Amino acid sequence: MRRPFVAGNWKLNRGPADAVALAEALRSAVSPSIPATVAVFPTTLSVHAVGKCLSGSAVAVGVQDVAPVALGAWTGDTSAAMARAIGCDFALVGHSERRARHQESIESTRAKIVAVLDAGLLPVLCVGETLDERQTGRAEATVLAQLAGALDGLPDDRLSGLSLAYEPVWAIGTGQVATPDVAQAMHATLRGWLGANRPVWVAEDLRILYGGSVAPGNAAELLAMPDIDGALVGGASLDAASFLAIVDAALRGA
Ligand code: PEP
Repeated sequence: MRRPFVAGNWKLNRGPADAVALAEALRSAVSPSIPATVAVFPTTLSVHAVGKCLSGSAVAVGVQDVAPVALGAWTGDTSAAMARAIGCDFALVGHSERRARHQESIESTRAKIVAVLDAGLLPVLCVGETLDERQTGRAEATVLAQLAGALDGLPDDRLSGLSLAYEPVWAIGTGQVATPDVAQAMHATLRGWLGANRPVWVAEDLRILYGGSVAPGNAAELLAMPDIDGALVGGASLDAASFLAIVDAALRGA
């Protein structure tokens, strides 16, 4: 039984004061005994304040990206080890906005996963195809190449804390959510690849989140699908009530 996982990606929104206000609303609404993983990923400058606000609560905190090294001459980057030191539990790796705007390669996602694991954080690896890749029949090949490349050389025993987020690029921030059948099919493909290439427990235990225009009105039918274990939520996570409605849908779909 995979525990539902709902994550809010705040992207480059909510500076420290606004981020803490949003975190406070979540802290008071999420029960300490909730049978789900709930996490938020504030913009880097807000992570520390949000972490302090959510410390001891059922809402975990993560960073949206990390450097592939723990420290050194990496101007502007974020250290996974330092994120861990201030109380983060999770890190996103390979979000499509970073792949597209920061030319992040498959090799770089692999190095970042290692850095995240070395720091004691749990990675959430994002994969997803563009509209062109889907329309030309290359969606599965693209997503599986992103998955296989990121995990290449990683021993099985390092995969126990990994989660995946399937985020079709054409669905992110567009309001054009994947249908439950389209999302379920890709989640099953990802799980099938893991089952064929890694021990069975990896495929059975690993949580695969769907991301791309998830909102209170469409979450329930997505989260009811057998291979959709949660949601990575962008825009709708900036409003506490919307995010909490998606958390509720995940609990009902579990
Ligand atoms: C995201 O970028 O991770 C995302 C899922 O965004 P949105 O929900 O706004 O489509």
